[in-house]
Amino acid sequence: MSKPVVAIVGRPNVGKSTLFNVLAGERISIVQDTPGVTRDRIYAEVQWLDKAFTLIDTGGIEPDSKDVILSQMREQAEIAIETADVIIFITDVRQGLQDSDAKVADMLRRSKKPVILAVNKVDDFNKYMADVYEFYNLGIGDPVPVSAASRLGIGDLLDEVIAQFPQGSATDEEDERPRIAIVGKPNVGKSSLINRLLGEQRVIVSDIAGTTRDAIDTDIKYNGKEYVFIDTAGLRRKNKIKEDIERYSIIRAVTAVERADVVMIVIDATEGVTEQDAKIAGIAHDRGKGIIIAVNKWDAIEKNDKTVKEHTDRIRQILSFMPYAEIIFISAKTGQRLHRIYEMIDVVIENNSMRVATGVLNEIMTEAVAMQQPPSDKGKRLRLYYITQVAVKPPTFVIFVNDKQLMHFSYTRYIENRIRDAFGFRGTSLKFIIRERK
Ligand code: GDP
Ligand code: GDP
Repeated sequence: MSKPVVAIVGRPNVGKSTLFNVLAGERISIVQDTPGVTRDRIYAEVQWLDKAFTLIDTGGIEPDSKDVILSQMREQAEIAIETADVIIFITDVRQGLQDSDAKVADMLRRSKKPVILAVNKVDDFNKYMADVYEFYNLGIGDPVPVSAASRLGIGDLLDEVIAQFPQGSATDEEDERPRIAIVGKPNVGKSSLINRLLGEQRVIVSDIAGTTRDAIDTDIKYNGKEYVFIDTAGLRRKNKIKEDIERYSIIRAVTAVERADVVMIVIDATEGVTEQDAKIAGIAHDRGKGIIIAVNKWDAIEKNDKTVKEHTDRIRQILSFMPYAEIIFISAKTGQRLHRIYEMIDVVIENNSMRVATGVLNEIMTEAVAMQQPPSDKGKRLRLYYITQVAVKPPTFVIFVNDKQLMHFSYTRYIENRIRDAFGFRGTSLKFIIRERK
């Protein structure tokens, strides 16, 4: 369920973006009306052989002076160590081995994370291979010669990467406990929320020691049931460059979301939904996770009988791509409605993995078609033959039709709404795949 995360780290100009684009290919996730997600290529879904993973590019704004380069590389490496299962450390055969490469290699080696050393710009193996051996000096294993620009050695590199993935089912998968990622901008109250939830539980379950990831996981027991909260608040970064801070907060959100069943997007009631909130929401939507929007600091605003509706309407309007999201108004400060969070998590997880029998689905579709005639174009009318659910997390349906072109987004939405009328599916997105049957 949770995909491995692979991070690219390296000095400016060694070819990180080029490699990222080659590996990502056309498979960058594109979801209609999801803001932000498709524009900045910070992460992408990659498939190699039978393995799928999330690729992240840790490189932010390119610094110009030497000492800034090193401090920024350290920061990139920290992010990668913290979030990735495998790190691709990329160097440049033309620039040769640099001092900063060696320093970052030390950091990576100490982290004990699997590192694949790629030596880029080996456009001609005969000409450059002798220079590749120099990189053995980094002490992080065999250098893999590649040319991102000419797409050479990419298959070998990917083989090395997937060979390092956690074997078999990752530990997260064997774990039946619900996993909830707490995401949101700085200062919305994520840490306060986790601390408050922790403070209210009677028994504190001890953390499982081990990887760096577990350090940011908090186990909380409620009503005899354990929940794992994945905190993205974590370390405060020293970096002052706004674009970098945003990039890193997105990387953290992506990797936390990847491991979660439910994503709780925390927003600040006194601010409302911001652009960055929408971006993070887009990531969660994109992954088909269960979604809860927690409007925090509810104690801090003046209220009357219309306040809840006003806030709900505004959230629905801005996050219009996820009308299914559950919304809850809370206060980490006073503890208001916090106990309801668990109930909501349970419901959302149940919906995200719910299956509906094919017979029932076809009854609903037949009735829906009878009530609202499908669209037609140039005398040809859309016909819907058959619907069946093919997957969960998120629930995914295949609809067989006579002509895909005729199945407009709005008619799919209409069918979706009829299914929701019957089964709710609150808190989860539904995915529709349209197939032609001649
Ligand atoms: P980044 O700063 O690490 O993201 O590096 P870029 O991907 O932007 O690449 C820096 C420069 O190196 C660009 O001019 C690329 O065209 C060039 N470059 C990237 N990969 C290769 C390669 O395999 N061979 C050669 N010759 N140039 C490359
Ligand atoms: P994070 O960066 O998202 O982890 O946010 P923090 O938990 O550090 O909280 C940021 C600030 O908001 C702190 O000053 C908190 O005391 C305050 N805060 C958090 N939750 C609430 C709340 O429910 N009500 C009020 N009034 N303030 C809160």
